[in-house]
Amino acid sequence: MPSIDKTAEEREFAHQRILMVDRHVKARGIRDERILQAMREVPRHLFVPSVVAAKAYGPGALPIGAKQTISQPYIVARMIELLELSGKEKVLEIGTGTGYQAVVLSKLCAKVFSIERINELALRAAELIRAMKIHNATVKVFDGTYGWSDQAPFDRIIVAAAAPEVPEPLVQQLARTGRMVLPIGPAGNQRLARVTRVGTRVQIEDCGSAEFVPLVGKFGWKD
Ligand code: SAH
Repeated sequence: MPSIDKTAEEREFAHQRILMVDRHVKARGIRDERILQAMREVPRHLFVPSVVAAKAYGPGALPIGAKQTISQPYIVARMIELLELSGKEKVLEIGTGTGYQAVVLSKLCAKVFSIERINELALRAAELIRAMKIHNATVKVFDGTYGWSDQAPFDRIIVAAAAPEVPEPLVQQLARTGRMVLPIGPAGNQRLARVTRVGTRVQIEDCGSAEFVPLVGKFGWKD
């Protein structure tokens, strides 16, 4: 009876998601109910490679192929919390990876534009997004350090890989009242930063330590 088994499996994963949010997100200080609810809904186990699906609702980061990783659930929630989304924003995400964070974002803002430099990851993420009938998230393969000029300005920018410094094109594509959240620094010494524009300058707020894969590109680390 495969259909009954599948339902039972889905129920089990849904249960694990509730526990994940309680233990690894809420217990660590994330209080925004919209973010918690979005994370209870998005089936993280479908985004990670099947060999690590059993660990999808654990506290850790996981390998996703092509030497990349999906961030731990708490970090996804923390970065989204720092964006302060009301639901109306146009958001640029750099580093689609599996597409998990893009789908969480799609439930919390108006539109998501996500860029991934590795073809195979972008293709798989775009397929999943289509299969899940998420209509407000678009993925493209490109060097995200250039931003997405056709779609600029963005109310929010979120970067899921660590940059050597704030990439200038991203500052240019940030709306005047916008904000950007990104990790900055070399492996082993990264800080999570929140960037806002103040006239022609940027203000950078330190939001704690971080551990991300490198942002590789023209305005990132060199290959
Ligand atoms: N947010 C993802 C995880 C991202 S991991 C998720 O939810 O699964 C970071 C990703 O950033 C990797 O897939 C890596 O290939 C990508 N990346 C690194 N440099 C990039 C660049 N210049 N442009 C676009 N993507 C980049």
